[in-house]
Parts: sequence; C-alpha cells; structure tokens
Amino acid sequence: MHADTTYYRDTAHSRVYPAVSGRHEVKVCVVGAGFAGLNAALGLVERGVRDVLVLDAQGPGFGASGRNGGFVFAGFSRGEDRLLADLGPSRARALYRGTTDAVALIRKRVGQYAIDCDALDAGVLWVNWFRDRKVLASRQRLLAEHFDSHWQWLDAAQVQQRVHSARYHDALFEPAALHLHPLNYALGIADAAIRQGARVHGDSPALALARHGSGWRVTTPDAQIDAEQVVLACGGYLAGLLRRVDAAVLPIATYVMVTAPLGSRMADVLSTQAAVYDTRFAFDYYRPLLDTRLLWGGRISVLDRSPQAVRRVLYRDLLKVFPQLDGIGVDYAWSGLMSYARHEMPQIGEIEPGLWLAQAFGGHGVAPTTFAGELVAAAIAEGDSRWRELDDYGLVSAFKPVGFVGAQLGYAWLQFRDACKDWCERIV
Ligand SMILES: Cc1cc2nc3c(=O)[nH]c(=O)nc-3n(C[C@H](O)[C@H](O)[C@H](O)COP(=O)(O)OP(=O)(O)OC[C@H]3O[C@@H](n4cnc5c(N)ncnc54)[C@H](O)[C@@H]3O)c2cc1C
Repeated sequence: MHADTTYYRDTAHSRVYPAVSGRHEVKVCVVGAGFAGLNAALGLVERGVRDVLVLDAQGPGFGASGRNGGFVFAGFSRGEDRLLADLGPSRARALYRGTTDAVALIRKRVGQYAIDCDALDAGVLWVNWFRDRKVLASRQRLLAEHFDSHWQWLDAAQVQQRVHSARYHDALFEPAALHLHPLNYALGIADAAIRQGARVHGDSPALALARHGSGWRVTTPDAQIDAEQVVLACGGYLAGLLRRVDAAVLPIATYVMVTAPLGSRMADVLSTQAAVYDTRFAFDYYRPLLDTRLLWGGRISVLDRSPQAVRRVLYRDLLKVFPQLDGIGVDYAWSGLMSYARHEMPQIGEIEPGLWLAQAFGGHGVAPTTFAGELVAAAIAEGDSRWRELDDYGLVSAFKPVGFVGAQLGYAWLQFRDACKDWCERIV
C-alpha cells in the first residue's frame, strides 16, 4: 500500500503553484484553496473582478476538497427535514435550490473549462440498509413536495441488479447527481480562475490578518498582501487567524481507501456506474473508478488514524457488504478533515466589513462550496445579498474541547441505534 500519498494525488494533473512573495495590493485575497476558496475566486473572475489572489498553506485541493468521496449531490449536512423545520418551505426551498443549481454549475464548468476529472454522470444510489421502507418513503415524499427534487424508487430486485450485495433492501436513485475525481476538479477550477486573471499560490500560509485602512492586511512568510476584501475558506484545516472563526468549527476526520484494480471482478459487485451510500447515520459510501478500482469511504471520528488503521477498519466494512471481495488488495488509504458547525450548516457571509467567511460544509460539501463561492462572489462583485438567507446559521461556538467528546459520543450513540435497529429487523 502507498501509505504516504492518496490515489487522487498519484493521479493528479500536476501543476506548480509558486509561493507568494513581496508586497501586493489586490481587490480580493482568498485564504484557503479548497473548493470554497477556489469557487469564490472563479466566481469573482467570471464576474469581471480580475484582481484576485488566492493563498493556500499547502496547495489547491490539499484539504478535504482533494481527498473526498467525489460525490456531487444536492443538499447540506443538515438534512432537508430540519432545514424545512428551521426556515419554513420557501426559504428552505431557496437554499436547497442553491445546491441543485451548484450541481448543474459543476457539470457546466467541467464542460466549459474542459476539466479532465473523470466525471461520471451516472447519479447516486441511496440504498436502504434497513427493511423499514419508511426511511426512503418519507424522504422521497419530502424532497418531491417541498424541494421539487424527484428521486426514483428502486425495489430490492432492481437494487440487486445494480449492487450485488445481500445487505440492502430497496433504494432511492438521485439521477441529477454525479461523481468525479475531486482533486483534478479542484485543480481544474484553480486553472480556470488563473486563465481569467486570478493568482493562485501554494506554500503560502496566511500567518496574520489585521485591519489596514479600510481593508485588510494578510501576512505570509514572504509576502504582505493588502486587500479591500478577504475571504476566509480554510475548512477543517483551521486558518489560525481569528479565534472566533476557528472556535466555530469542529474538525472531524473521515476515511477513504481505494482497492487495487478489480478488472473483471468489478462485475461481481457493481453493474452500475452510479455512486452508492446507505441509509445508516454512519454510512458506507463507494463508487467505481474508471480504472476498475473501487473507492470506499466511511466512518467519522475526532481521531486522525494512520493509513494502515484506516485500511483495517474500512476493509472490514467493505467485506460486510461485499464478502465476495475477500482477498482483494488495497492500494491507498487516507483520512481528511471536515469542518462541522454545531448547527451542521455552512457559515457563509460577511462577518466584519470586507471580511468574508465560507466554512463548515461538513461531509456534504462539494455542491454547497460551489453555492457558497457563488454567493460570496456575487456579494463582492455585485452587492448581491442572497448570502443573508444563511444568517440563521452563524458563528456559534463549537465548545471545544468538550465539543469533540460530544461529537464522538453522539456518533457512537447513533451507530448503536442503527445497530439495534438492524439486529431487531434480523431477529423478527
Ligand atoms: C474523506 C472525505 C470524504 C468526503 N466526501 C464527500 C463527498 O463525497 N461529497 C461531498 O459533497 N462532500 C464530501 N466531503 C466533504 C467535502 O470534501 C468538504 O465539505 C469540502 O471539500 C470543504 O471544502 P473547503 O474548501 O471548505 O475546505 P478544504 O478543502 O479543507 O480546504 C481548506 C484549505 O485551507 C487551507 N488553509 C488552512 N489554513 C490556511 C492558512 N492559514 N493559510 C492558507 N491556507 C490555509 C488548507 O491547506 C486547505 O487546502 C468529504 C470530506 C472528506 C474529508
């Protein structure tokens, strides 16, 4: 197993993003080149704001954005039912619509900018771990009634035709979803922004942020950047610049592994190109890669495990679903940090004059970061105030370090509840 890299990094279209040096005056400085920062930068240059400088402590896609499952689907970490209860039908629908539009925008940009990121426009299957059909029925109804989103029901036989596991019952299919190589997608977005005038720098950690005149000064080891506006987009990798910003998110780890190429054995497990996840709180998620490997992810934890430990736990999970894969090789295993707010919604908006935030996307961030990039770019370039629709989900303390214990206990409890439900269904 390649323990010191990821599958995505090994198959990335490598580019060099030099460190920033010297003094710069720019309209917008974006700190963090994950999807949130890169989409804000691209949204800005697409709106004619050319004077945009993006900094990353490591490089574009170093964080969650270049390590994730690659599922591109609508919605937020906070489920649709809770969104509806919080905001009422019309505001909830408007926010959810932001993420369906984001899925469409991702698809459009992949074509428009010819981003080579193995995009598979094959939808996503939400397979039922439980016999209880209410789980699927209530979500299908809610999505159709309130969010104009129509997921298709597949009965157990139809699921079996696509996913060859005895584990599952029926499923919902989200046809508008897709999956892709997230690191190559992030690099493609960075390059699209650069081609339109933005500058993107790796190896450039922002070390300090301070008010400077009517704008902000960002300091890196070798540079001083004076910006009219700053966008902070550092996800679970915490910028270390403003305490109240870092205090509002819990970095939570989740894990991924990639098998050796399965060749014809892929047909023993999947006869679909759709990505798959299940209905448990602590769900497995997986998808076929173009080179016949299976990418498998799951688990969340406050602990960052070693690649060997990730491989061990995920391999066990894989065999529970696909015992026929016993003995296959695993070439890569890694972890990544998600950023969670207590309310499980992203924190997006202007927190001080000229200081913008886009963070806390949790485990459901590919489309919402694109939505966030659009909101922030439209606000800065055009004075658009749609970002205020997220005002209800602001900077609330994550109560660290107690929050970590709470998150781990909450996770264990929900896992236990799912295990009990599973056990009860098996004995009756
Ligand atoms: C293993 C895993 C699987 C996931 N699977 C999915 C999935 O399938 N679908 C989905 O929708 N979501 C998924 N997610 C969630 C999704 O990846 C994230 O929500 C999203 O990528 C967050 O993007 P971001 O830009 O906010 O943060 P990140 O991508 O983490 O980017 C933050 C960046 O900030 C930089 N940074 C930090 N501090 C500084 C500093 N001081 N100066 C400069 N730069 C700094 C970091 O180097 C990093 O590159 C997954 C997450 C993980 C970890």
